[in-house]
Amino acid sequence: MILDNSKALVVFSGGQDSTTCLFWALKNFKEVHTITFLYGQKHSLEVELAKKIAQKAGVDFHLEDVSFISRIGTSSLTDTSIKMDQEKPADSFPNTFVPGRNMFFLSIAAVYAREKGIRNIVTGVSQTDYSGYPDCRDNFIKSLNVTMNLAMDEQFILHTPLMWLDKAQTWAMADELGVLDLVRNETLTCYNGIPGDGCGECPSCKLRRQGLEEYLKSKESK
Ligand code: ZN
Repeated sequence: MILDNSKALVVFSGGQDSTTCLFWALKNFKEVHTITFLYGQKHSLEVELAKKIAQKAGVDFHLEDVSFISRIGTSSLTDTSIKMDQEKPADSFPNTFVPGRNMFFLSIAAVYAREKGIRNIVTGVSQTDYSGYPDCRDNFIKSLNVTMNLAMDEQFILHTPLMWLDKAQTWAMADELGVLDLVRNETLTCYNGIPGDGCGECPSCKLRRQGLEEYLKSKESK
């Protein structure tokens, strides 16, 4: 299979990080596609917003149902009967972690990319993120990149433009790409399913807001 190096597939959720990655990809590649996953997330509005943003960006939008993930594993993001951890436990990661999510997402994305002849796969994971999810770490991504290449005898390249950025730096990137307002108003990151600035209370909203405030402050002082 000949994979085209000028094409990229963005693993896209309609949140702040993957939306920033989508516009990063549009700047760096000639042809950009998105793949969005239904995995039993409590807030299906996420998918609607993702579709809207993809349409606005003029890129192909592909939705894939992988809700088996929430049947075989447990997470407070997919199970309404579990109370969401508000903070990161000292010795572990919060129960908002969805076991295997990025492994499944990226593996399926690679199969889809191969079908479309796409070499580059972009994901918005970040090791700097507060939560310490193991499948957001650089060593996992590098390991999976090797594995997917071995699995299909291909030369995919997994890109993680946000890996070493904190939230303030991710906002800075969105601003540089000219999409700060779009990311701020049209994405959904809130664990309670409220778009834009969100509920303001959940861990995800707090992280997002702190990053934004920090970035806007640093911009003012320039
Ligand atoms: Zn929230």
